[in-house]
Amino acid sequence: MGLRRDGESRGEFGSAQFRRGAALSICLAVLPVFVFASYTSRTSQGKPAMGSPADSAPARQDLQIYFVDVEGGQATLFVTPAGESLLIDTGWPDNDARDANRIAAAAKKAGIAKIDYVLITHYHTDHVGGVPQLAARVPVGTFIDHGENREADDASTEQGFEAYQKTLASGKYKHIIAKPGDTLPIEGIQATVVSADAATISDPLPGGGEENPACKDAPPYPTDQTENRRSVGTWISFGKLRILDLGDLTRDEERELMCPVNKLGHIDIYIVSHHGSDQSNSPVLVDAISPRVAIMDNGAKKGGSPSVWDVIEKSPQIEDLWQLHFSEEGGSKHNVAPEYVANLDGPDAGNYISIAANPDGSFAVFNSRTQKSKDYPAR
Ligand SMILES: [Zn+2]
Repeated sequence: MGLRRDGESRGEFGSAQFRRGAALSICLAVLPVFVFASYTSRTSQGKPAMGSPADSAPARQDLQIYFVDVEGGQATLFVTPAGESLLIDTGWPDNDARDANRIAAAAKKAGIAKIDYVLITHYHTDHVGGVPQLAARVPVGTFIDHGENREADDASTEQGFEAYQKTLASGKYKHIIAKPGDTLPIEGIQATVVSADAATISDPLPGGGEENPACKDAPPYPTDQTENRRSVGTWISFGKLRILDLGDLTRDEERELMCPVNKLGHIDIYIVSHHGSDQSNSPVLVDAISPRVAIMDNGAKKGGSPSVWDVIEKSPQIEDLWQLHFSEEGGSKHNVAPEYVANLDGPDAGNYISIAANPDGSFAVFNSRTQKSKDYPAR
């Protein structure tokens, strides 16, 4: 199934199936606002008084995921039905704390007053840079990372790492060094580490283990020499739903996870690696995990590579790709239709994408720019 390109659609979904999706989205666009509002009022004011209207508000049963726009970096916030939270990466430093403020706004929307776990995939500035500004705004429980900085000869990487170490050294936080095969101690989802510090899981995960036919035709990728290859990758299971976030893991390490057998199995929601850069997202990975939906945290001028766009479009089970930004490099041929883009060409508005997912495998993707969401029924 091909993706709907920019220009192919003018606000109307092309097929009968997608027109139904559009009608549904009108109801769904209203729902999250109401649910968020009631949830926030309950959690921000603490335990409600007996008999108050908030007492009758049902606890959320869904997993919320916020793809915060940090302009070509990463910041993805998961909030489980148990109310526990995991933030993967913190965006950039500087810019008057733009990224930390956007993460704090997402946390507020999700109804949480604290982020339980902050996972730093690797020490490039667009991932670790926001740590000090975030920690100054939102209480954090535990930081998770892969250990030492392996790119200490790069000045900006070392600077970001040192600022992070200073935050850790305050003694206010717990700290976990992730190893492949670890299960993160977060309640409400199963989050398994599949890669860390250039090591990968040795055995397939549940649902994985099939031979990967793409391996035999795949070129040998050179060994990446940067922190990207060290990325902590996380496989998340929530009921029947499978979600994958590999940070900026490069193609050489993708091969370790995917050849000769696909150790990850099928994925429903793929957080496109490396902002859609072609140093990652090889067909060896993307075809075999065959996601239903892919979310790309690209910037206007970062990631969003046309060749990656093509790989995703050709992957066997793809229904939709959503982009945080219109990709300038992608032009008219390698961008999805505007309703799937959170930030169009032009002045930056910091719009986010969010997902509300259910244990039966159904989920809805919401675009904060259009205020519409699209339903993906359970299979
Ligand atoms: Zn990055």
